[in-house]
Amino acid sequence: MKLGLVGIGKIALDQHVPAITDSADWELAATVSRNGSVEGVSAFDDLQLMLDTRPDIRVVSLCLPPVPRFAYAMQALEAGRHVMLEKPPGATLAESHALLAKAHEKGVSIYATWHSRQADMVAAAKTWLSDKTLESLHITWKEDVRRWHPGQAWIWEPGGLGVFDPGINALSILTEILPHDIHVSAATLEVPENCQTPIAAQISFEHPQGAKVSADFDWRQEGPQTWSIEAKTPDGTLILSDGGAKLELDGVQIGTASALAGEYPRLYAQMARLVGQGGVDMDLRPMTLVCDAFTLGRRLTVAPFLP
Ligand code: NAP
Repeated sequence: MKLGLVGIGKIALDQHVPAITDSADWELAATVSRNGSVEGVSAFDDLQLMLDTRPDIRVVSLCLPPVPRFAYAMQALEAGRHVMLEKPPGATLAESHALLAKAHEKGVSIYATWHSRQADMVAAAKTWLSDKTLESLHITWKEDVRRWHPGQAWIWEPGGLGVFDPGINALSILTEILPHDIHVSAATLEVPENCQTPIAAQISFEHPQGAKVSADFDWRQEGPQTWSIEAKTPDGTLILSDGGAKLELDGVQIGTASALAGEYPRLYAQMARLVGQGGVDMDLRPMTLVCDAFTLGRRLTVAPFLP
């Protein structure tokens, strides 16, 4: 299937282009970007022009930041194209619902991707937890924003999510592996005095069986980076680390993949399945948790962020 890739920036070049190129399902037929391009691929700087002149391209994958992405997604859906969305699926929940409704109206597929759910050991963690009684679960998602988002201003602007940009990856795993739905009960958001979005956040969740569930996100961690989830049950302790690539069950290590390995090829395989079956995959639970943390969060002003 021919695919148009929109927003040729960091994630498009790091992950999407290699995953598409290596896939037997997809051909990268065009790019749309104001500045970026991919060597040897037809390049547009206007999405409408691509939609009008390339009816053979039935699928559009959008790698823009969340705020500008909505207008592009609507344009593609209006033109009857299947749409794949980078995470988060919108800058707001209402946007995400509007995109889903438009996809239904047009009879096309839409896929709200959550790349971290495709990490190597997430499915195994879900299976292990499925018949356990959860006592507690803690997420530690601590990374260096300067290392992972060099020069990106949008992450500090309204709709950019701040530390929830990586944090939502943890929440996408959490909502996937837990057999019960949870919701936010309290949050603290640490916002640099020169920014609109948090650089750190602590969140507590309500669990239907009373388990203590919490998360600690921080973008100020230099040195080793931590993306881990620890779950305690009467039958043992689970530690999912490296963003879901590694799993430890009662001290026994399972899985040797490195962080991010295989995630984007699996996303594109799922998109191929959805288009083939006329399916829709739009789980908004991670986004709901983020929105609720912003709604309930107590805001603390902290030292300015100096890039
Ligand atoms: P990015 O490099 O800053 O932006 C991607 C591209 O979007 C830019 O190159 C730019 O292309 C286009 N763009 C930016 N602002 C725009 C605007 N106002 N209007 C139109 N186009 C605009 O961002 P990224 O890191 O790739 O992240 C993009 C999305 O992927 C985010 O939702 C992020 O959460 C997700 N993601 C990122 C990572 C990561 O490691 N960076 C990992 C997983 C997921 P042109 O200027 O050429 O048009």
